[in-house]
Formats: sequence, C-alpha cells, structure tokens
Amino acid sequence: MAHLDFTTDIQYLKGVGPKRGEVLAAHGIDTVGKLLFYFPRKYIDRSEVDEISSLRENDYKTVVGKVLGKGLLRGGKTRLEVILGDDTGHLSLMWFAGYRYFEKQFKKGDELAVTGTVTYFQGYQMLHPEFEFIGGDADEQIHTGRIVPVYPLTAELNKVGLTSRSIRKLIKTALDAVGGNVEEYLPPEIIEAEKLTGLSEAIYEMHYPSETEAAEAARHRLAFDELLHLQFLLQSRKHKFKQKEKLHACKQPGKMFTTILDQLPFKLTPGQKKSLDHIIDDMVSKRPMNRLLQGDVGSGKTVVAILAAILAVENGGQAAIMVPTEILAEQHYKNWKEPLAKAGISSGLLIGSIKAKGKRETIAALASGEINIIFGTHAIISKTVEFSDLRLVVIDEQHRFGVMQRSKLAEKGDQPDRLVMTATPIPRTLALTLYGDLDVSTIPDMPPGRQPVKTVWRFSSVLGDIYKYIDGEIEKGNQAFVIFPLVEKSEKLDLKAAEEGYKELTEKIMPHRKIGLVHGRIKADKRDATIEQFHDRKLDVLVATTVIEVGIDIPNAGILIIQHAERFGLSQLHQMRGRVGRGSRRGLAVAIAYHPVSDIGRRRMEYFASTTDGFKIAEADLELRGPGEFFGIRQHGLPEFRIANPVTDQEILIRAREWAEKLYKEHTRDAEKTRFLLNHTAVFSNLQADLIDVA
Ligand code: ADP
Ligand code: MG
Repeated sequence: MAHLDFTTDIQYLKGVGPKRGEVLAAHGIDTVGKLLFYFPRKYIDRSEVDEISSLRENDYKTVVGKVLGKGLLRGGKTRLEVILGDDTGHLSLMWFAGYRYFEKQFKKGDELAVTGTVTYFQGYQMLHPEFEFIGGDADEQIHTGRIVPVYPLTAELNKVGLTSRSIRKLIKTALDAVGGNVEEYLPPEIIEAEKLTGLSEAIYEMHYPSETEAAEAARHRLAFDELLHLQFLLQSRKHKFKQKEKLHACKQPGKMFTTILDQLPFKLTPGQKKSLDHIIDDMVSKRPMNRLLQGDVGSGKTVVAILAAILAVENGGQAAIMVPTEILAEQHYKNWKEPLAKAGISSGLLIGSIKAKGKRETIAALASGEINIIFGTHAIISKTVEFSDLRLVVIDEQHRFGVMQRSKLAEKGDQPDRLVMTATPIPRTLALTLYGDLDVSTIPDMPPGRQPVKTVWRFSSVLGDIYKYIDGEIEKGNQAFVIFPLVEKSEKLDLKAAEEGYKELTEKIMPHRKIGLVHGRIKADKRDATIEQFHDRKLDVLVATTVIEVGIDIPNAGILIIQHAERFGLSQLHQMRGRVGRGSRRGLAVAIAYHPVSDIGRRRMEYFASTTDGFKIAEADLELRGPGEFFGIRQHGLPEFRIANPVTDQEILIRAREWAEKLYKEHTRDAEKTRFLLNHTAVFSNLQADLIDVA
C-alpha cells in the first residue's frame, strides 16, 4: 500500500474507495487525518452491563444483547416489539411513538446496548429505551474489548455500509498505517504545564481505550485542544471588533432619556440599573458596544433595551429591536408606541404579516429617518430594508436567531452598537465559551413582589380534576394558558391537537367560559385580536401552541397548563413558565404528561417541578441532552463540540482560555508561532463554521 499520512484523501484508505469516500467527505471526513479525529460519541463499558436475568421491575439498567426478532403488534395502540436476548434470558423492547421509524432500524442479529427502566407486562420490558448499536457478528480483535466505542452515525453513512463496527475497522486500518506518525502540534510548554497526553497516544486511546482512566486522559487532552482552538478564535474576534471605532459615540443621557426614565411606572431593579450603566458606558465609548444582557424570564430586559434605544435616538441615530416572533414584536410596539411618542420619538413595526402597502411605507420611513425605533422580526433584515442612520441593534431572545441573521442586522448600520439579550441563563464559565468575545451583563434579580411559580407535573389521567380546579380559579378572576406543543416534524398533527383541545374545552369541559385559540396558522390580525382580548381579560382561557413561549406579557394570567409536557425540552418548559406569575398573584404551572414517557422525559419533568432557578434549569438541560445532541446545543447558541462538554469541562475551559490569551498576545507579535492553531485544527472546523459571525 502506498504511504499514507494525515492529508491522504480518504478514498485511498483500504476499505473505502470512491463511493464511501464521497459519503465520508460529505460528512467532513475527506482525509485520513479527519477520520482519526472522528471520535466516538460515547463508550459502553461491558463490565458495567447487567445480565438480562438479573433485571427486576423499576430497575434503571443497561443490558447488552442481540436482536432475536421484531414485529408490529396491533390491536389497541400499534407498537413495535423487539426481542433482545443475551446468554441469560430475553427482554422485550417497546416503541409506541415512531414505531415505523424504529422498525426499520433493527435487524435480527444486531448487537445493542439498551438503557431504560424495566417494567412488567406479561414479562419484563423497556418502553422507549435508549439504545446503541455496538456491533454485529463480532470480529474478535477489534470489537470485543471491554470498553466499546460508539461512533456517531447517519442514515447516509449506513447506506454505504458504514456502521459503528465498520468505522472502527477503518480507523484501525488508518491507525496502523499512520499511527506512530502523528505530529504533535502543541508547544511542549503547554503539554508539560497542563500534563497533557501526547497527541498520538490520545488519538489511539480515544478509539481503543485500554482502561477508562487512560481514555479519560485522552479525552481531556483533545477537549483541551478543542477549547483552546475555540478560545483563540474568540480572542481574535474580540480584538478585531475592539479595534474599530464608531462614527458617532453617544453623549451622556440627556433630557429625553431621563424624562422617560423618570416616568416609568416602576423603579428599575438594582440589576437593571447596573446593566443599564454598563450599556450607557459602552454607547458613550468610542468602540462599538458588543454586549450580552442575560436575565431570567420576567427579569425586565425589555425596558433596559428600550432605554438604550432612546439614548441612540437622543444622539440623532436610529435603533432596531429584533425579536423572534410576530406576537412579541407587536406587543413591544403596542406597549411602547405611546410613551415614546410623548417624548417625541416615532416608532414602527415591521413583521412579515403586514400588508405590502404598510410595509412599503414603513420601509420608506426607515430610509428617510422618519422612524426612530423599529420593532420587528427577521423581516427587518430583508434586503429592501435600509436605515438612514442605524446606531443600535438589539436582538432579543438571541438564541432563537442564527448567527448569520444576527450579523445581517448589524450590517445595516456603520459600526452600530450591539446588544443581544437572552432569557436562557447561562452559567458564567459557559458564557465564556459561548460569548468569549462579548461583554456580559446579568440581571440577577426579579422586579419586587414576584413569587416563584408553583410547579407540578401529572399524568393526563387526572386532567379532569385539574380543569375543575382551574375553573374554580377562573371564578376568582384568574386566567389560564393551555399550551400544546408544536414540533416542526408533525406540524399538521400538532395544530390539529391544539384545535381539538380548544374544541373540547369550549364544548365539553368549560362551555360556560370564554376561550380563545391562537397558533401560527391563524391570520395575524385575528391572532392579535385574540391576544388583546385575553390581555384585557375578556377571555378566561387562551389555548395556544408554543407561539407564546417567547416573551409575551399578560400580567393577570396566573395559570399555565402544558399539554404533552414530555415532548418539551427543559429550557423550553422554563420559558413557558415565565409567562405566568407576573402579577401579584402566585403563578401555577401544571405539566401534563401522556404515556408512554421515556426515562429522560420523566427526569426532565421532575427537574422542572423541583426548581424555578433558571441557571440550574439551563445546566440540567445541557446535561440531560448531552453535548453531542445538536439541537440541545443549538438552542443555547453553543457551537457544536466534537469532544469537549461545555458543562462538565469547565476546568479545562478555564485553562484553555488562559493559554488562548497568552497565545493571542504572542500571535500579535509573531503570527508564525500560533500557526498551528489555525492549521492543524482543520479537524475542529466545526467551530470555525459556527463562528462565521466574526465581527
Ligand atoms: P423579560 O426579561 O422576560 O423580557 P420583560 O421585559 O417582559 O421581561 O418584563 C416582564 C414584566 O416586568 C413586564 O410587565 C415589565 O413591565 C415588568 N417590569 C420590568 N421591570 C420592572 C421593575 N423594575 N419593576 C416592576 N416591574 C417591572
Ligand atoms: Mg423578553
């Protein structure tokens, strides 16, 4: 075989060829080196696996076995049963939801590791267990070690015969060919100071862990590399940004600003004040502001953003406030239009569902400078929108926007100040990972008088009692949200569920109450009218899909019912809970779960009911989802990590950040010295892609 090295095209590796090579390249694995950096998603330790015969009801265990057979069971609810056997017995695995999809996944003879809670129904079974394919008919040498690596897979890889097992085989071939020749790229002083495993060994141990400790040391080393790389990118981004100068720095707040501030119906909380001070300092400074404002739902970020916008206007500029939903944009606009107008500031609304004529007028008024503050959705970033002098951009609920959308708005001005806001609170060290290039302000306190929302979760069987209780509350003047999930995949079904839920409430459960329905498919004006009625207490109950998840503010609504709570993520549940308990009355949130509920689902709901601390929720959410889970990470706006876990690797993160700062200083003196960070790490190109938003 010809000589192979890191840069050899993947198709020349024995066992690959042009067809598999193409599919691998499409997954970012176009060279032998990148294959070696294609690390397992997790490891299964065979010595910690239980025997099927030892399982008892309610155990939460992992077993490894082979698929002995499968079949769809009809009658009642259709479900998929897969029989899994090991040397000691067999177990039945059941899927209700998505059984068609799962049926295609399993073949007789597949070896699986399965984790879940054991239940008993005509024999032991697990409902919707987590599972991993760990091999097929074993190829002794490389597949039967004690610790079995499990590789990330996709349907496309599967189609060309690339399973966890065959990937392991390819990696073995690649390691045999280049294994000893992996060139260390980290400077020796870092390796020594941090006591890092050498690169060759680390790569080997990641794929063929000899024992858990060595594998952990290897992972530590590569997580360090990944975080170092990220931190270095963030450093350079931050410095690039700070080099620029604004055309117009603001003056200290004057009369317009202070008049509005004095006329607010409440006093700012200490956290709001402090954050506002940071923002004013930034806006007065010559360098553009690049700040993250974080605060739990209901902490009052909006008013801080509005005050920043007023400062921009007072200094002769325009401000844009972009939010993720039309409902929220409208709400901000309605709430602030009058008070702003009184101070001589004109505001406008730009959202997709406005009629073309109105849109044209608003766009013209923005271009001429007639509108000072625009509220809107991503409609604001469409090509036709131009500003006369955009000086401040605010992005609310920033984790809902892609990085590209965020920078597009800023590009409509010349070095505008930027403020991004998030209600998904992020642990401090995590904020460093994510926003290493941003300055961060936090509102740690809530407006006075707020009490934590009482939260419980129940199975749907008791829904009748819950509605009875709520009816009593409505009698006392309370109002309730009833939320149905909206998952893109099955949007039609979900809308139907919401509509049916609405029908059932109006016709059967509470025919004597006034009930409204809103979801994304209802025309904007009708939707607004309904929300306004609810706001004005002309409706008792608002049935909604998750369109209300973000931001809307109805102070009198004290009750929240979340249908199919098992389908929501923790942070999402927490955001919804933020809708209630905004008035003086204590809020109540009831999460309703429908069978079957996975173990993770159950843990999520238990955690949700156990705390209202947004920081704890965010942490638990990341942990429960696992960093490998693309969507979990995206929700928080985190880059997609290959190896590092931003929650559990915070120590490594801090070390990496220190080195990145040092290296960046060296880099400004001699870029040659830090070349390795940009070169070798093509393997971490995932980070670069996520950080395209370089200011
Ligand atoms: P979020 O941070 O979730 O965006 P909002 O800005 O929507 O929170 O504020 C939630 C509610 O609290 C609004 O009704 C707002 O008027 C009110 N609010 C904001 N700041 C204060 C304050 N300092 N005192 C009392 N109420 C406040
Ligand atoms: Mg908000």
